[in-house]
Amino acid sequence: MNLFTETDLSPEILKAIGEIGYESPTEIQKQTIPFISTDIRDLIALAQTGTGKTAAFSLPILGMIDDSSRKIQLLVLCPTRELCLQIAKDIKIYSKYLPNIKSVAVYGGSSINDQIKQLREKPQIIVGTPGRVIDLINRKALDFSNIHWLVLDEADEMLSMGFKDDLETIISETPETKQTLLFSATMSKEVERISKNYLTKPHRISVGSINEVKKNIKHEYYVVSYRQKKEALKRLIDSNPNHYTIIFCRTRMETQEVADFLMQNGYAADALHGDLSQAQRDTVMKKFRLKNINILVATDVAARGLDVDSLTHVIHFSLPDDPEVFVHRSGRTGRAGRDGVSIALIKPEEGRKLKMIKSQSKIEIVEKFIPKGEDIIKAQVAGVFEQLLSQHEDVFEFDNALIPDLSAFTKEELVKQLLQFQLKDMALYYKDRNDLAEVKFSKEDRDRDRGGRRDRDRGRDRDRGRDRKPRRKNENMVRFFFNLGKRDQLKKVDVLDIINQSTKKSGKKADIGDIEILEKFSFFEIEKNFKDELMRNISNKKFKGREMRIEVAN
Ligand code: AMP
Repeated sequence: MNLFTETDLSPEILKAIGEIGYESPTEIQKQTIPFISTDIRDLIALAQTGTGKTAAFSLPILGMIDDSSRKIQLLVLCPTRELCLQIAKDIKIYSKYLPNIKSVAVYGGSSINDQIKQLREKPQIIVGTPGRVIDLINRKALDFSNIHWLVLDEADEMLSMGFKDDLETIISETPETKQTLLFSATMSKEVERISKNYLTKPHRISVGSINEVKKNIKHEYYVVSYRQKKEALKRLIDSNPNHYTIIFCRTRMETQEVADFLMQNGYAADALHGDLSQAQRDTVMKKFRLKNINILVATDVAARGLDVDSLTHVIHFSLPDDPEVFVHRSGRTGRAGRDGVSIALIKPEEGRKLKMIKSQSKIEIVEKFIPKGEDIIKAQVAGVFEQLLSQHEDVFEFDNALIPDLSAFTKEELVKQLLQFQLKDMALYYKDRNDLAEVKFSKEDRDRDRGGRRDRDRGRDRDRGRDRKPRRKNENMVRFFFNLGKRDQLKKVDVLDIINQSTKKSGKKADIGDIEILEKFSFFEIEKNFKDELMRNISNKKFKGREMRIEVAN
């Protein structure tokens, strides 16, 4: 099946998708369209965002919905508001010529009363996020007792975002007879568990898995010290003119820091992370989609709902722990037949991590060196010509009388002058700066070949602490390991404050002993009597956006 016209999709659907330029089904659509149209078994489809998942389930189902009935027949559950809106929008486009089919999107962060009003129109399709769907079930505004299809989209994300109980509650509201279609980018343990409990002998489909990495993405890595990361990032951006880029960071704080750095340096950039309100996130995504900004700095979770096809670059400012996340991030470029570049900034001590990503993903990632100032200027000049020569239309009426007498100059001299003028600031910046020195992977990292790194780091830092100050054991005190350290901007006063806040219920003040803040984690001592209260109160709390975890130190 190479063309949609060879499928059993109805003429109304073919007309709608023809209008938006879909000709051939994507890999997943080739497999799901005939399956869903003819089989009643449950389905597990392993597919990532960007593979055409939404059309893969909605096109065959749209053709089977009974539009004379006003009961809900299809429920699609997905993890985020953005994805929910995207799916609902796509379904509306695909059902353009099926006027009696109605769909409604229900999601948090928006008026529930407005959504209840829309539900009074009796849609056959609901697309929703789990939390809001439960609220609406509780208000008796939703009834799923007659659905034929339940789609769990990005099931791995929903589970990792803590929606397990909500999903189970919603599933218990649906009939046994429905067909469940589960879409997930990864087959995590939680996905496996939920499939076992709620799907019956599912048929399995897998596309775009980790071993089928896109061929049109070039992967590069640059070894840079932590101190020079932002300067390296600036140089990489400057050496790629006319780019449209997402930069991935690991934490909200890092995301904001990198975005602030870029904005302060005059780049059209902004941050997208979970500390922003929904309205702020919507504004940032809109600006990026409209290309009012061409750099988005984001966390993995926040970038999930963003669907942009024309990214030229993905930059991993920090490496993720999971190779699948690396592949997933990189796969955001190189879409819709375009080429893409994925760039990873690697710290000298991350050699092993890079090796693991390479071996598990089977991606060839080539080492490159941070461009020198003169190379950046050359790339900028090429970028100006590229833009100049691709612009064919006159954007404004040009009066030739405005051009003064230039006969004293040759064409080349004029072009040179214009470029000097255009690139002056950047050229001056790089003229006064030393190029970045080449950085190698640290020896320590190369030599390390056994055991868990974190444990050893912990041991090493701990030993260092011990060398500095021999400690006599105080029987009334208990010593804790705390997962945050200097790099999280943790200070002694913060530790004191955290301890006081977490032990204030009893009305007594805990004695606090030694506090030792190391690079990646810390140790502190408090009176034994407060041990349980502290442990109870500290979990699930955050410090500057990071989860706090403590355990009794050995
Ligand atoms: P999804 O994985 O559903 O987020 O889809 C990714 C992108 O591919 C969306 O922009 C869809 O509109 C587009 N798309 C889906 N199916 C096709 C197709 N068969 N031909 C062309 N574009 C498609």
